[in-house]
Amino acid sequence: MTTTIPATLIPGDGIGPEITEAVVQILDAVQAPFAWDRQYGGLAGIDHGGEPMPQATLDSIRRTKLALKGPLTTPVGGGFRSVNVRLRETFGLYANVRPAKTLTGGGRYEDIDIVLIRENLEGLYVAFEHFIAVGDDPEAVAISQGVNTKAECRRIVRYAFDYALANGRKKVTVVHKANVLKALTGIFLTAGKEIAKEYEGRVAMDDRIVDACAMQLVMKPEQFDVIVTTNLFGDILSDQIAGLVGGLGMAPGANIGPDVAIFEAVHGSAPDIAGKGIANPLALLLASCLMLEHVGEGQKAKAVRDAVDAVLNTDKIKTGDLGGSASTKDFAAAIIKRLA
Ligand code: NAD
Repeated sequence: MTTTIPATLIPGDGIGPEITEAVVQILDAVQAPFAWDRQYGGLAGIDHGGEPMPQATLDSIRRTKLALKGPLTTPVGGGFRSVNVRLRETFGLYANVRPAKTLTGGGRYEDIDIVLIRENLEGLYVAFEHFIAVGDDPEAVAISQGVNTKAECRRIVRYAFDYALANGRKKVTVVHKANVLKALTGIFLTAGKEIAKEYEGRVAMDDRIVDACAMQLVMKPEQFDVIVTTNLFGDILSDQIAGLVGGLGMAPGANIGPDVAIFEAVHGSAPDIAGKGIANPLALLLASCLMLEHVGEGQKAKAVRDAVDAVLNTDKIKTGDLGGSASTKDFAAAIIKRLA
């Protein structure tokens, strides 16, 4: 008998409810163990709870320690902070894990399999920012300070090496800009070299300056295995590697903290196609596979991934963003048929 695992489900905004519905149906078909507690966030949170991240949603995540989250619209202006940043800070979600793997041909590269691990709490994204006035211009000079702590650098690098060991990966590449930001990212590189010694003989380590890494990802992506980097560089490089495998519609992400883990698609709420029934549910589905693995249900995750492979490559059923014409529902139905 399968044990039931309580989990928070936040369908989110825009295409969120459509893709969430598809993913929940597929998870039901594979008998995933999750008992969903449905909660609101983003614009839906404002409509139902008066704020983009209602207390009831936070309480639910605190209780279940596990969430699958659809994309949330961050209203522009109006003083709203990004709900996603709020979740990271509230639950100390220090590791952002973004795997990028080629799933179907026709892209620029045939064989990408890279996992990018991004530090999620520090760096330039602490956004300690202010302006200095010059003459009568109050915003003549903009200043931003970044913060990286030795403890956090060590924690995220250790996470990357442990991830590599647990997932049969051979190498961790530490990405930095220690030649220019000698303190802010030098501390990260030093932590990388120190922690790597503990894994000698089991996981190899090398390092890259971020700009060279960006070029090499395009020229020779097969040289990368696991990449670990600071917050801002990770934000940029993870979208780049999503592009290498076919775009944001295929990119899942996991936000991992000491107690809580939140899984999501990397893309946003896609207001331009919301309600049309044509969104690709694959990124959220792959995020749910990461969630299955997180709770020790790797076999079920594999069954879903195998079904995805068969639907994309044998049945040739794809949504519009991948060059096909299937609706969200058609795509989900094709996966469920394969699972049966
Ligand atoms: P977006 O990712 O929503 O859309 C970018 C483009 O990609 C659009 O053309 C969209 O139609 C397409 N796209 C995205 N997901 C798709 C899918 N599953 N299937 C097919 N096409 C897809 O980015 P945006 O337009 O910059 O942001 C819209 C809103 O989403 C903003 O309010 C932003 O703050 C929010 N956002 C949320 C998250 C999150 O919750 N994790 C992440 C990014 C953006």
